[in-house]
Amino acid sequence: MKALVKARPEMGLWMERAPVPEIGPDDVLIRIRKTGICGTDVHIWNWDDWAAKTVPVPLITGHEFAGEIVELGRDVTDLKVGQRCSGEGHLIGHHSRQSRAGKFHLDPETRGIGVNEQGAFAEYLRLPAFNVVPLPDSIPDEIGAILDPLGNAVHTALSFDLIGEDVLITGAGPIGIMAAAVARHVGARHVVITDINPDRLNLAQKVTDLRPVNVADEDLKDVIAELGMREGFDVGMEMSGNQIALDQMVEGMVMGGRIAMLGIPPGKSPVDWSRIVFKALTIKGVYGREIFETWYKMIAMLQNGLDISRVITHRYPVDDFVDGFDVMRSGKSGKVVLDWG
Ligand code: NAD
Ligand code: ZN
Repeated sequence: MKALVKARPEMGLWMERAPVPEIGPDDVLIRIRKTGICGTDVHIWNWDDWAAKTVPVPLITGHEFAGEIVELGRDVTDLKVGQRCSGEGHLIGHHSRQSRAGKFHLDPETRGIGVNEQGAFAEYLRLPAFNVVPLPDSIPDEIGAILDPLGNAVHTALSFDLIGEDVLITGAGPIGIMAAAVARHVGARHVVITDINPDRLNLAQKVTDLRPVNVADEDLKDVIAELGMREGFDVGMEMSGNQIALDQMVEGMVMGGRIAMLGIPPGKSPVDWSRIVFKALTIKGVYGREIFETWYKMIAMLQNGLDISRVITHRYPVDDFVDGFDVMRSGKSGKVVLDWG
């Protein structure tokens, strides 16, 4: 089969032939139809420090996918050949206290497809049946291929009650933009999204109704006054990984505000902890998706009118994957989807 492989410990990915994976008794084989390119894949392409210390070489990359089940392991009884599906790319263990308590997303033994294990940028993917998420007919393959990052957005957005709340999202990348759409969908009052990249803020406005703020030339204090908020934002979602953005968020929150942090800062961040204490803020770190509660919630919201389709800005046949990665690396795109035919 064709597969996009991190074949050498240097910049790039290479289209290679690889054997179709053999499945075990509890696995399924999925014929991949569409895949999404993630920021993580760009780190792997660039072969930065994180990638070099995390990713074994050679490895088939990719973890955002939709496809169709073509083979069932001997012990898989609850799925069918021909079922369209996406799936959770975090492969959990069953030994930790958290996992045994059913909090699968908190399992420290988790391994990621396309990062630690063979991934989804291939014609076929082996996946434990446990990880499969069937797709309803109303969700097309290309949306199925971005449920992984939509899940990050939904997990973050549903961390705190948003109904009637004023929400600040820092970082208008694909995940920040989808989180804004979710906040709107579930009934937040004002949704403000910040970035320093005008292309990203334009895209945010195309996907959902919100107040975009370019923090390079606008002050959040003025926006708080303009929208008639007396004290600031009730809920924050940090989705840039940028330390200045986190600092602005802490500054913009009300007393007792709640912050969910998905963005990954590049190193240790200097944070003014005294401000966090005196404002009595709650900060929650968010990792991945809740397995499988987030999947249920996001599919239900998509069936009930949540529309994030415009966050997909580029589509390429997989043989043009270099163009797809170039546009991702330009910072001008939303989600980029590769078509495996
Ligand atoms: P992205 O890099 O596409 O978007 C981040 C955006 O933040 C960019 O548009 C950038 O211009 C903007 N930004 C930079 N400096 C800023 C500032 N000072 N103020 C406001 N915005 C600023 O990333 P993404 O794919 O949308 O993911 C969002 C974040 O979530 C990333 O940090 C990513 O690493 C992280 N992430 C975490 C998890 C997890 O499980 N915790 C999972 C996926 C992604
Ligand atoms: Zn991803």
